[in-house]
Amino acid sequence: MSGGWQPLDVVQLSGLAETALSSAFSQIESIYSSVDMVLGAVSRGLDLPCMRGCSACCRQSVFLTPIEFLYGWDWAQKHLSHDALDDIVSRGLSLYQQHQELIEALEEASHQQRDAFSVARLLRFDCPYLGEDGACRIYPARELLGRLFGASLLEDGALYACSMIEEHLRDIPIAFPRAPQLARALQDLPLTSRRQVYPYYIHHLYHPDASSGSMPWW
Ligand code: SF4
Repeated sequence: MSGGWQPLDVVQLSGLAETALSSAFSQIESIYSSVDMVLGAVSRGLDLPCMRGCSACCRQSVFLTPIEFLYGWDWAQKHLSHDALDDIVSRGLSLYQQHQELIEALEEASHQQRDAFSVARLLRFDCPYLGEDGACRIYPARELLGRLFGASLLEDGALYACSMIEEHLRDIPIAFPRAPQLARALQDLPLTSRRQVYPYYIHHLYHPDASSGSMPWW
């Protein structure tokens, strides 16, 4: 499937006033930076096996709110080359096509406020933002759950991490914060009432048969 990136006006896409979007972006930056600081402190000295190019956590379904998607897309449009953006759009469209049934099942579950965990577990793909070197192409603007992965706990106290980290931390006492609690820091921002995966957003922005440059945020 061809790419076909065209620059999009994120203010228009958001449906918010420019000042409201800019304020939401500033708040996201501040939340990301304080989360990074907390996680940096709790994982200091643990020598976690997370290194540039590993990307194990980016090869499954990663969920994010619309405002986080817009923040990352705005950053990508300002910092990445036309070719890179074309590639991301092309991969996003193709991933949506491959996983359409599961992605739409998630969407339905989200609208009906049903637990989508059983569907989400089946959805596995390489994130369209992953570069050829295995590094994230929007690292400074990546989503909150990606930041939390590997250094936080789920509601039930289980590690929110991959099997390598689980193995690495076996028998080591840890004091990680709960991911759902930290994720709630976004809830007062606009466009945060639900989460979807990157291919969903890219499909709705760039597929000719989708909503042509506008987003079904609600
Ligand atoms: S945006 Fe970056 S950190 Fe997030 S899943 Fe994709 S590659 Fe990984």
